[in-house]
Amino acid sequence: MRALVAGGAGFVGSHLCDALLALGHTVTVLDNYITGDPRNLAHLEASPEFRCLRHDITEPLPEAPCDAVFHLASPASPEGYGRYPLETLLTNSVGTHRLLELAARHRARFLLASTSEVYGDPLVHPQPEDYWGNVNPVGPRSCYDEGKRFAEALTVNFAAQRGVDVRIVRIFNTYGPRNQPEDGRVIPNFLTQALAGAPITVYGDGQQSRSFCYVSDLVDGLLRAMDAPGTAGQVLNLGNPQEYPILEVARLAKALTNSPSPIVHLPGRPEEITRRRPDISKARRLLGWQPTMGLEEGLRKTIPWFEARRAQRPSVPSSASP
Ligand code: NAD
Ligand code: UDP
Repeated sequence: MRALVAGGAGFVGSHLCDALLALGHTVTVLDNYITGDPRNLAHLEASPEFRCLRHDITEPLPEAPCDAVFHLASPASPEGYGRYPLETLLTNSVGTHRLLELAARHRARFLLASTSEVYGDPLVHPQPEDYWGNVNPVGPRSCYDEGKRFAEALTVNFAAQRGVDVRIVRIFNTYGPRNQPEDGRVIPNFLTQALAGAPITVYGDGQQSRSFCYVSDLVDGLLRAMDAPGTAGQVLNLGNPQEYPILEVARLAKALTNSPSPIVHLPGRPEEITRRRPDISKARRLLGWQPTMGLEEGLRKTIPWFEARRAQRPSVPSSASP
C-alpha cells in the first residue's frame, strides 16, 4: 500500500510511519513542522520506501499517488493551538479539503484524526460516538474543537457527495516517546519537570480527569480503522478507558522517576474540561481493538525517551500560566 501521512513528523504521525514501514508499505509524509519535529523521522531517512516533503497542507498539494491518506496534520496541544489558532482552523478546514480532493483523485481511502475535544466539556460520561458534545464555539479551545468539528462535517459530506471511502477516529489523550517536551501537554510536562527536579505543576485542584492511551495502542487502532472491513463512513473513539484524576498522574510521574520535585497547584485553565473517558465499545466490536498498556507500564516505557531528550537539550516547561 502507498500511504500518505499528513502530519507525519509529529508525535503520533511518526509512530504511524514506523508501523506502516514495518508492515512493508511505502510512506510519503507531508508536514510543515509547525508543531512537529524532523528529528522524529530522522531514523527513516535512509529507507527507500520513505519520503518526507516539507509542505503546508493549506497550500496546493504536490501530486502524491496513494492508496490511503492518514490526515493527522493539526496542532494538537492546548499550547500548540493556543499559539496558532488561525493555522489550526485553516489546517482543519482548507487542509482537510485539499487532502479529501487528493484522496478522491487517487481513489484512496481516507482517515481523519479527530479528537475527544469534539465532545467539549462532556455532559455524558463516558463519551460514546453518538454524543454530540458540549462545546463553546467562541471559547479558548474553539479553534481546535470547532476546527475538528468542521473537518468531521467536511469528511462525511465529502463522502456522501463524492463517494470517497472515509472514516473518522476521535482520539483521546495519548502519550509516549516523541511527545514533544515543550508542547505543554500534561504527561510531557510532568515527566520533564519530575526529571529536572522542578515543581510538578497541577492546574487547579487536580480532580479533573483524563484517560491516557499509550501511543503503540493508538497506532494499532489507526491501522485497523483504515483496514478493517466495515469502517467506511464510521466514526470511532480510540483511547484507553482507564480514567485518572490529574493529581494522581502527578504523583505517579513523581514516584516512577524517583523525583524530589514538589507537586504545586497553579490556577486552573479557563474552561477546563472536567472529565474525559472514551466509550470504546464500538472500536471493540468493529475493529476487535482495545488498549493493552496500562498507565504505569506506559510511563515506564516513556521515561527513558524524556531522559535522553533532556540530556540533549535540558529545558523545563515553565510553571507557566495554564
Ligand atoms: P503533533 O503536533 O505532534 O503532530 C501534528 C503534526 O501536524 C505536526 O508534525 C505538525 O507540524 C503537522 N502540521 C500541523 N499543521 C500542518 C499543516 N498545515 N501542514 C502540514 N503539517 C501540519 O500532534 P499529535 O499529538 O501527533 O497529533 C496528531 C493528530 O492526532 C492531530 O490531528 C491531533 O488533533 C490528533 N489527536 C491527538 C491526540 C493526542 O493525545 N496526541 C488527541 C486527540 C487528537
Ligand atoms: N495539566 C496540568 N498541568 C500541566 C499540564 C496539564 O494540571 O502542566 C492538566 C490540564 O489542566 C488538563 C489535563 O492536565 O486538565 C490534560 O491537559 P493536556 O494539555 O495534556 O490535554 P487536554 O486533555 O486538556 O487537551
